[in-house]
Amino acid sequence: MEHDTLTANYLHLQRLSTEDGPGIRTTIFLKGCTLRCAWCHNPESMITKPHLQWLSHLCIGCKTCVLSCPGGCISMENGKLRIDSSICVLCGKCAEDCPANALELLGKQIHVKELSEELLKDSVFFTQSGGGVTFSGGEPALQPDFCAALMKILKEQNIHTALDTCGLVPQSNLEMILPYTDLVMYDLKLMDAQQHQQFTGASNERILENLLWLAQVMRKRSQKLTLWIRTPLIPNATASKENVQAIANFLNQNLTDLVERWELCAFNNLCRDKYVRLGMDWEYRDQALMNREELDDCQQWARQVYHKPNTVNVTGAARVEE
Ligand code: SF4
Ligand code: SF4
Repeated sequence: MEHDTLTANYLHLQRLSTEDGPGIRTTIFLKGCTLRCAWCHNPESMITKPHLQWLSHLCIGCKTCVLSCPGGCISMENGKLRIDSSICVLCGKCAEDCPANALELLGKQIHVKELSEELLKDSVFFTQSGGGVTFSGGEPALQPDFCAALMKILKEQNIHTALDTCGLVPQSNLEMILPYTDLVMYDLKLMDAQQHQQFTGASNERILENLLWLAQVMRKRSQKLTLWIRTPLIPNATASKENVQAIANFLNQNLTDLVERWELCAFNNLCRDKYVRLGMDWEYRDQALMNREELDDCQQWARQVYHKPNTVNVTGAARVEE
């Protein structure tokens, strides 16, 4: 594997994150996903390739971008911007030069070396807080060569690595990444296969199979690998007693010895603006946050059934009642 030439479809990174694993973390978001969750908080990562987005409502029609594009890819006719994607090399110069922030480059191809150098700048935070780097997305395991190479570099510097996965990837992809992974954060969203299909666009069959396979790998592996389960709490979808307790039963039957923590992640609507910018409808646009009582109910349902009740935690914000 030649590290320097490996690239990924990369969205961005988020520093000082406290909700993506232990300690203070830098989370990297890779593009591309196998699911289409109705509540997705990172819709821009569903699109695999980087892309240029024109926000017509911000555009002042100055044509700076037309002049600044080195490849002559942009034209403007009748107030409408046209970007010739067949010749655009996604260099981002037009977005940099736009005085109105009406052009936005979402994602880019990034080299493993460039990203590792950026991540290593945060080493001191990781060491002092017991944190590290979390690979998220989208689905990071869709780019296994890149994840494995980058995690290997981080492990050589004793930096903790976490993989945040939806589980719907070939096992061979996970096999490449796991040797360099300290923590897997595995999503279990819905136990009912039909509902899973309805809300995420895919059945949960392979996700459950992969989780059971992962459990076998963990039991055989001498090197420590920690497993967290994460369940997004989505009103009228996942946040029901039936679903939460079905997940608890599945964990009891298969994984209680391996799961260190089960996180119930509160719905949030901070991504509302992202959907507007992408020109996408979002059915949760007007959905309020859950209140403390609703979140506590979910935690109680889980704790009533799950054999390790003290490891069930709710994360995220609750709605403050007036
Ligand atoms: S530079 Fe920005 S504001 Fe000016 S025409 Fe291009 S997109 Fe619109
Ligand atoms: S991203 Fe670069 S190549 Fe593409 S339109 Fe903008 S300036 Fe031109």
